[in-house]
Amino acid sequence: MKKQARWFLSALLIVVLALAAGCGSSGSSGSEKKNTLEAIKDRGKLVVGVKYDTNLFGYKDPASGKVEGFDIDVAKALAKKILGDESKIELKEVTSKTRVQMLQNGDIDAIIATMTITEDRKKEVNFSDVYFEAGQSLLVKKGSDIKSVEDLKGKKVLAVKGSTSVANVKEKAPDAEVLEFENYAEAFTALKSGQGDTLTTDNSILYGMAAQDSNYELAGEPFTDEPYGIAIVKGDDEFTTYVNDFLKELKDSGEYDKIKQKWIKEE
Ligand code: GLU
Repeated sequence: MKKQARWFLSALLIVVLALAAGCGSSGSSGSEKKNTLEAIKDRGKLVVGVKYDTNLFGYKDPASGKVEGFDIDVAKALAKKILGDESKIELKEVTSKTRVQMLQNGDIDAIIATMTITEDRKKEVNFSDVYFEAGQSLLVKKGSDIKSVEDLKGKKVLAVKGSTSVANVKEKAPDAEVLEFENYAEAFTALKSGQGDTLTTDNSILYGMAAQDSNYELAGEPFTDEPYGIAIVKGDDEFTTYVNDFLKELKDSGEYDKIKQKWIKEE
């Protein structure tokens, strides 16, 4: 019996040591950096989070079902660089509120969705270099008495959850009432139905709305800087460098200017 107990104890010790070793190795694999580029190549497809309701940047045409825009063309060019074929891509809809979570969950390889590079967001994601410069502005019905961000006292301002626009306008116009919506389609519908006096976000996005309904126009000059970056999972510096090289090539080859001219009308 004694012998049996000793045997049992040494067997137990071996199991405990093996488990501890196992934990050690899984601990180190847990801290391993995610290799997005490898995953994309293995899968044979780039999965990108894009907007579906942001005309000119990422917009799903209700008639054709096609998703098109500046961000979409940038995403396709990235798929071409990684996989040699721009059609090896899957577009997944994100909103300003859902995009970081979707990246962190591993649902998407990158966010290319009118996303401003900010210090706060850098705590959660890696950003590429700037690929587009926007600035926050206001969309109003033609003839509105709102001419600039100075005129928002007591006004109802519509904005989208998870966007930089909400905090910016609260800071610049503390006397305004800010109403937050899930996405840009809902916010624009709310503006058109008279739920607010103005809609605020990047001028680039507001131009897309004004192009869809000529009763609306931008008011005043942009009052913030909104440099757009491609967001990549936090810590994947290898893929971030790869994406920066891609952006540089896109600009140097003239392809970037072509995409920009296609979608963005220079004022
Ligand atoms: N660029 C701003 C942001 O990243 C506003 C546009 C958006 O909501 O995506 O929040």
